[in-house]
Amino acid sequence: MRKQFTVKQGVSLEGMHPIIYPALYIMESLYRDRVNGENFVITSASEMSSAHKEGSKHYEGKAVDIRIWGFTQEQAHEVVKDANYWLSPILSVILEKDHIHMHVNI
Ligand SMILES: [Zn+2]
Repeated sequence: MRKQFTVKQGVSLEGMHPIIYPALYIMESLYRDRVNGENFVITSASEMSSAHKEGSKHYEGKAVDIRIWGFTQEQAHEVVKDANYWLSPILSVILEKDHIHMHVNI
C-alpha cells in the first residue's frame, strides 16, 4: 500500500529513500492524534531548492520538511519528541523555526 500524502505544489518525492514512507505514516498519525491532520503537508523533499544547504540530505532523497501550522510551540515539541521515540535512530526529527525537518540516518 502506498499512502498518498499531501504535498505542497512544486515539491518532489522522486527518488526518496523508501524508509521515508513508513516514517511519514507515523508522523501523520501523530498529527491526527492531535486533530491537526489537515496540516500534515510536506513542504519540501528532494526537489532542488535554494532553501537547502549544498550537500543537504534533501538532495539525496533522505529528508523531508513538514508544515507545523495549527500547533502551539509546545505541541510541536511534543510531536517531535514522540516522532523521535518511534523513529530514532534510523531517522532524526528536528523542530526548525517554522517546520519539522526529518532525515534518514542510514
Ligand atoms: Zn529540511
